[in-house]
Amino acid sequence: MSPENIVIAGAGLAGATAARTLRTEGFHGDIIIAGAESHHPYIRPPLSKEYLLGKAGEDAVEVVPETWYTENNVTLRLGVPVTEVDPAGHTVRYADGTSEGYGALLLATGALPRPLKLPGSGLDGVSTFRTLDDSRHLREQLADGGRNVVMIGSGWIGMELAAAASSYGNHVTLLGLEEVPLGGAIGPELGRFFRTLHEGNGVRFVLPGSAREITGHAGKVTGVLTDSGERLPADIVVIAVGVVPDTALAGAAGLELRNGILTDASLRTSAPDIFAAGDVANALHPFTGEHYRSEHWANALNGGKVAGKAMLGQDAVLDAVPYFYTDQYDVSMEYSGFPSLAADAAPVIRGSLESKEFVAFWQRKGQVVAGMSVNWPKSSKPSAQKTIKALISARSDVAAAALSDPAVPFDQLMPES
Ligand SMILES: Cc1cc2nc3c(=O)[nH]c(=O)nc-3n(C[C@H](O)[C@H](O)[C@H](O)COP(=O)(O)OP(=O)(O)OC[C@H]3O[C@@H](n4cnc5c(N)ncnc54)[C@H](O)[C@@H]3O)c2cc1C
Repeated sequence: MSPENIVIAGAGLAGATAARTLRTEGFHGDIIIAGAESHHPYIRPPLSKEYLLGKAGEDAVEVVPETWYTENNVTLRLGVPVTEVDPAGHTVRYADGTSEGYGALLLATGALPRPLKLPGSGLDGVSTFRTLDDSRHLREQLADGGRNVVMIGSGWIGMELAAAASSYGNHVTLLGLEEVPLGGAIGPELGRFFRTLHEGNGVRFVLPGSAREITGHAGKVTGVLTDSGERLPADIVVIAVGVVPDTALAGAAGLELRNGILTDASLRTSAPDIFAAGDVANALHPFTGEHYRSEHWANALNGGKVAGKAMLGQDAVLDAVPYFYTDQYDVSMEYSGFPSLAADAAPVIRGSLESKEFVAFWQRKGQVVAGMSVNWPKSSKPSAQKTIKALISARSDVAAAALSDPAVPFDQLMPES
């Protein structure tokens, strides 16, 4: 049975996609999306890429055009976050003091930059990076080039921001705790690939290295003191050391938390009629039988769709093979699979890292569990990502020699359907 009305806390990709799905699935009741930010729902990937680089405008970040909400009778309460959830009374309270009953509630509150308690982190010129406003501000700072930029954090966001900063002609130094950037995510060989790419574009790495202090003068940042005692000059410092799921609402409401809001495969939380999706949800994944919290775009998109259907009582589960992508300089990378299953496995490579055109497959007990394609021709039929996803889903055994051999076309690798 459909609920009478649906409240969505969080006006991001997961929240807006859920609203869209509710209308596509024929839900006629009230939909209210409450957002902590004052912007219409937007997607974040361009913020550290084409939008930051000035190659795309704000229309490139809209989840749906702004007119969609009024046309589809969806109420947006922007800048009015939900401050309290009462699961027993089926009500939410908003920051403006008003409250409202709900038939179903979706928590799509996303994640927040992990804070780094460092002396000097409050200086002017030091920031974290998550929002459209952060991207606008950093773009203004970077655009003229010639500035000393220190990135603290060698994960995906730190690397993308380093690429954008150096593309504008700034002097970029990147500090990270890992021996190899992205080593924890994609292993040392492919992490080194990204390091070489950045070094070829002038980025300097201090790895493993951490910041002991951010130094300043007259309230403005002037440098970063590393744990080894090196003083790096800095006009701009960005702290990009990961995110934490924003579970404040759910925790205060007594929902079960474990690395995010714990849900079943249909994104139901431990409280009746409350669902969670996107970065904040740690959902049971049917493929592994384990909970998995993803911090990627596709998960928010697919999770929003599944939550929308599940709130209407449909039999929907989030069983997509996890996917994400990155663009840095002339490299476009896509990844599908389960990093936890691929951990410690050496990748099997088709193509060559030197040519910046390759596919890496990770296997576990003979089965493909993850795969990454870099600049792989779009003309490939089936595409590299389609092939990787099909191999993972089928759990079929594949010879490593066939995976790496360019003479074996992808359609020959595809499992029998
Ligand atoms: C700079 C950047 C670049 C990225 N690039 C990529 C990429 O290249 N590829 C990729 O796969 N993924 C990328 N991601 C990750 C991807 O953007 C996230 O996984 C996605 O945004 C998650 O969507 P979400 O809706 O769960 O959360 P969010 O987008 O974080 O939205 C949640 C919203 O809820 C709001 N909120 C919080 N609490 C409340 C409350 N109590 N009441 C109301 N509203 C609340 C927040 O302010 C926020 O606006 C990137 C992320 C960032 C930050």
